[in-house]
Amino acid sequence: MICLLPIGEIQEDAIAIAGETLREVFGVPVRELRPEPLPSEAFDPERNQYHSTSILLKIKRPSQCERLLGIVDVDLYVPGLNFVFGEASPTKGVAIVSLTRLRQEFYGLPPNRGLFLERLKKEAVHEIGHTFGLGHCNNPGCVMSFSNSLIDTDRKSHRLCQRCRRLLSETGGV
Ligand SMILES: [Zn+2]
Ligand SMILES: [Zn+2]
Repeated sequence: MICLLPIGEIQEDAIAIAGETLREVFGVPVRELRPEPLPSEAFDPERNQYHSTSILLKIKRPSQCERLLGIVDVDLYVPGLNFVFGEASPTKGVAIVSLTRLRQEFYGLPPNRGLFLERLKKEAVHEIGHTFGLGHCNNPGCVMSFSNSLIDTDRKSHRLCQRCRRLLSETGGV
């Protein structure tokens, strides 16, 4: 089972849509957990961002959740990068995604809800894919291809390519 954990304030339907997509792509049940507050110690006031790794490390994965995806609506960073869309810890079976930079409004553009939800699906599947041991894929249409920017994210699909699907079944992920 994949569990979804809202961390801080999250739009409800964003979580449901991420859950439906994860169920469809990985073929496992998905459950939404009770929301938890954002850990205040992960906030960097100078950067006005949250340190992604320290949120990841704080998440406790219940034993019934083989994989857990935390969803936040704050801007995330890791040292050395200006921002990250998300981060995964394959050893913990835990990943995190941020909604903040998936919205057109963040870039001063008119809102586009459909585009926002497509981006969310891709980021959610990508990070959970990492927790199943999948690395980055050279196929630019595959959800496991690396996104350096939203141009890359918008180009790929939310699905695994044939090669990644095979890898997933070989590692016994699903
Ligand atoms: Zn990645
Ligand atoms: Zn692939």
